[in-house]
Order: sequence, then C-alpha cells, then structure tokens
Amino acid sequence: MKNLKKIIAIVAALAIIGVIFAACTKGGDTKDAKETLVMATNAEFPPYEYHEGDSIVGIDAEVAAAIAEKLGMELQIEDVSFDSIIPGVQAGKYDMGMAGMTVTDERLESVNFSTSYAKGVQSVIVPEASDIATIDDIAGKKIGVQTSTTGDIYATGDYGEENITRYDNGAVAVQALLSGKVDCVIIDNEPAKSYVAANEGLKILDTAYAEEDYAICFNKADTELQEKVNGALEELIADGTLQGIVDKYINAD
Ligand code: GLN
Repeated sequence: MKNLKKIIAIVAALAIIGVIFAACTKGGDTKDAKETLVMATNAEFPPYEYHEGDSIVGIDAEVAAAIAEKLGMELQIEDVSFDSIIPGVQAGKYDMGMAGMTVTDERLESVNFSTSYAKGVQSVIVPEASDIATIDDIAGKKIGVQTSTTGDIYATGDYGEENITRYDNGAVAVQALLSGKVDCVIIDNEPAKSYVAANEGLKILDTAYAEEDYAICFNKADTELQEKVNGALEELIADGTLQGIVDKYINAD
C-alpha cells in the first residue's frame, strides 16, 4: 500500500514535470520563431553606420533593418573593427557584413557579395592650411587610413608602407589628422564629408582617388542567405525604399 502511494506520487510528479517541460519548449519555439540575422559592421563610418545614443543608425543599419523585416528576421548589429568583419563572416560568427564595404577581387576570394547598393569614392581629407593641394602632393606625406580598407590597400600600394599609419576606424584617423600626427586621411567620400562637417579646420581635396561599389558580404557556403538578402535588397532598390533611406542621410546638395 505504501509502495503504491509512492508510485502514484512519482507518476504524478513526472506528469507535472512533463507538462512544464512541454510548455517551456513551446514558449522557446515561439520566441525563436524569428530567426536572427547577425550583421557585423564598424559603426564609425557616418552616414552609413554610426552611434546615436545607444543605437547604431545610418544607411546600412536602416537598409539591413528593411531587409530583415522583409525576410521576417530579427536584425542584430555587432559593432567590430573593420578588419575583423570578413574573418568573422568566414568563421560563421556573423551572418553578413555590411559596412560601406567595397567589392574587390581580393575580397571575392574570401567572401561572396550581394548586389551592389551604393557607390563610394576614396577621398583625401587635409587640414585647411595644408600644402597638399592635389593628389599629386601626397607622395612622401604621412597618410592616415583605416586598417584593411580599400583606402589602406591603395595608398599602401601607391605611396609605400613607410608613409602609412593605420587606425581602427575613421574617427580615430581624423583625430590623428587634427592633432597633426598625419598629414592627410584617405577615406570614403561620404564619411569624409561627415567628418569635415563635424570638425573645424578640415577640407576634402577635389580629386577623387578611386571609385568603388558597396555591397553586403556573406560566407561563401551560405548562398541561401545571400540569395534571400539579394531578393529583398533588389525589391528595396526597385520600390525606391533604398533611395528614400539614402536621401534621409545624404543631402543632394
Ligand atoms: N569602402 C571601404 C572599404 O571597403 C571602407 C569601408 C569602411 O571603412 N567601413 O574598404
């Protein structure tokens, strides 16, 4: 009799545990129903990505949010140094990299790229009183760049390793220019405009250094995500959503 009571108690306890477990699993499923889309960026690249209070905003952040919404996914942005975006995407740490990133043949050996959604031009920022008047005056000067960006790669090739100082991001490179540690900074045109607008005493040389296409990068094995994102991105381009986001951040004048 005593044993029977014990058995009933155990069976009842197991049943309760079972019900609780089922409820939890179900709750978990509901919560995870929205798949996360992890995007790596370097949020010191206005107007494409930058910090505003606690959030990361900008053209890339908003386009990515619109893509995630179309795909029914939850966007999660990771702010990392520019040179760790591609290795992180290759390692499967991030689903994609979106950082005003230029499509280059060399990068195409490591990652796949989406349809291009913007154009960039490498620009040269100098102090207003600089004796650097054109791109031809850069040779032999101290050049600040962001590590592993196309500005870094081209300038190192053209002007030599000994003239290049590498910084983690555009903000730090521009600080170095303001304090006279470098004579110029080579960076993409829109961030260049933002940094010049935000800091007194700087200007951009008229000469464009190199023209390039921006796209989102993916792990080479994840062509499924690449295709889904491309589909969403192409819709956003076709229906004018992308242009609307660009217009919000970049003044036509
Ligand atoms: N467009 C440049 C590149 O891809 C710079 C990008 C960036 O600094 N976020 O290298």
